[in-house]
Amino acid sequence: MLKWLVRTVHTDDPRALEAALRWLYGFVRPQRSAIGLVMALSLCASLLVLAQPWLTKTLIDEGLLAKDYGTLLQTALLMIAAGLLGTLLAGVNRYLHTRLSGRILFDLRDDLYRHLQTLSPAFYGQRRIGDLMSRLDGDVAQIQRFAVDSLFSALSSLLGLVGAVALLFALSWQLALILALLVPLEVLWLSWMRRKVERRSRILRERSADLSSFLVETLPAMKFIQSVGQERREAGRLQGLGDRYLGDLLKLQLTEFVTQAVPGTLTSWSRAGAFLIGGYWVIEGQWQLGALIAFSTYLGMAVGPVQSLLGLYVAVQRMTVSLGRVMELRREQPEIRLAERRLPLPDSGGRIELQAVGFGYAGREPVLADVSLVIPAGLKVALSGPSGVGKSTLIDLLQRHYDPQQGVLLLDGVDLRQCDPAELRRRVAVVSQEIVLFRGSLADNIRYASPDADPQAVRRAAEQAQLGELIGQLPQGLDTPLGERGGQLSGGQKQRIAIARALLQQPTVLVLDEATSAVDEATEREIIAAVDRLFAGRTRILISHRLSTLADADLYLRLNRGTLSVESKSETAIEENLNG
Ligand code: ADP
Repeated sequence: MLKWLVRTVHTDDPRALEAALRWLYGFVRPQRSAIGLVMALSLCASLLVLAQPWLTKTLIDEGLLAKDYGTLLQTALLMIAAGLLGTLLAGVNRYLHTRLSGRILFDLRDDLYRHLQTLSPAFYGQRRIGDLMSRLDGDVAQIQRFAVDSLFSALSSLLGLVGAVALLFALSWQLALILALLVPLEVLWLSWMRRKVERRSRILRERSADLSSFLVETLPAMKFIQSVGQERREAGRLQGLGDRYLGDLLKLQLTEFVTQAVPGTLTSWSRAGAFLIGGYWVIEGQWQLGALIAFSTYLGMAVGPVQSLLGLYVAVQRMTVSLGRVMELRREQPEIRLAERRLPLPDSGGRIELQAVGFGYAGREPVLADVSLVIPAGLKVALSGPSGVGKSTLIDLLQRHYDPQQGVLLLDGVDLRQCDPAELRRRVAVVSQEIVLFRGSLADNIRYASPDADPQAVRRAAEQAQLGELIGQLPQGLDTPLGERGGQLSGGQKQRIAIARALLQQPTVLVLDEATSAVDEATEREIIAAVDRLFAGRTRILISHRLSTLADADLYLRLNRGTLSVESKSETAIEENLNG
């Protein structure tokens, strides 16, 4: 099957396609028994559909025309039974099919999402969120549609086609030769038109992506658009996008209509032809009326499957494009490599050591060059330097969003490359400039990094972060829901929520990266006093442009052009660095 697909699809890289299909098969494999069941049910359903016209034929020829009440009753009862069974089967099949298809879809998406969770900020810096969303949503769904829906529909089409053709020949092989004319004509027409339909639907998908990108881009920027008075321009853009979408939708509808109309017309002509010839035979007494009616029904039933089988080829092509886009994400490698055997971090005070550390982003000047330094446990460290010099990058290294390209970074004597990033990130809490708030209550947001914290601890952390006044103002206190992204809160309030979150996490190293820039100096003093009180004996790193924030540090570090220089008030710090 895999080999067949690889051969069917035009691709520049058959090995990549094979690897992708293997990956996909990994999700289908565990569902084999469910697939078998749905296949068996589809087979029964197809047989039931095929049986209906035959029953009609029996009813007419052997019941009505033969004036046989017994057969009439029997056939009518059989028809009722077949109808009931068909409905039942369709219901069960629909349920099982949706469950199967949903499981595969969600497994695929979970796998991709989990993979995305391992990728670095550098990856997210390069990608548009709209693009990632369309891969996670549209492309994954396209793959799943192929893996389940298209294959099942192909299977039942094949059964339907073979069954209908066999029955047509059984009814009258001479008349069935009409098919020899009808099917090739249909195949030719449909395969010619398919490409046009496909092109039109691709254009429409792009138009729809344009519309959603427009919304993703402009809705969060509404305040800015209002303040620069560009509402009309944006409304005009939306209208333009809508008009283009509608234009392309109409073109697609028209193309699809023409595509369907020709086989439809051909079928009704062949039916008329069959009625003409078959009708003549019936009048002459050479054929039976029921057989003629059943023949005409089967003729109609042979047309649909040809269309969906031809559709399979398009589905394969479409799926390959989506699979390629998904695999491109799947192949993205995490920046950090997890060690086979991970060392636990000792429960000590947060001693940080850099040994000849060098780091730079791909294709850029190095941010850190051969930096060696010791930050003894429990100190309050002020880290300063011009904007864009690499302060946040240094903190990213400390949380292992990246590993240094040269040298070693150690926390409490453990090389960070040897430790588990999740454990490290529990020990090193960072409050950065960009505050992330989620939908949920204020308390939920404070306990985001420590979901098991009890309510008293949450309240204590909130008070230590000077949130008492805000909680008093909110209608339901800590349980007040925050809107998405905390829209109603001021910058300073958001910062204090982030600080409360970090305090609750009880880290060994607390980093405040411009974390109090939006609160007034008096509040900042209180927050920092609380941090000093709570974290006495643990390492605190403060990054700020405000001199007052950095007052009373034990160690002053200045980052400039890839090097770190040390000024210190702490004897031990100076000693360690001289000896180190
Ligand atoms: P600071 O925190 O001191 O303002 P940063 O650590 O944010 O500085 O950035 C240091 C340098 O690295 C800057 O020149 C910045 O443009 C660059 N940089 C930051 N993140 C990335 C990234 N993901 N990819 C490439 N360059 C980056």
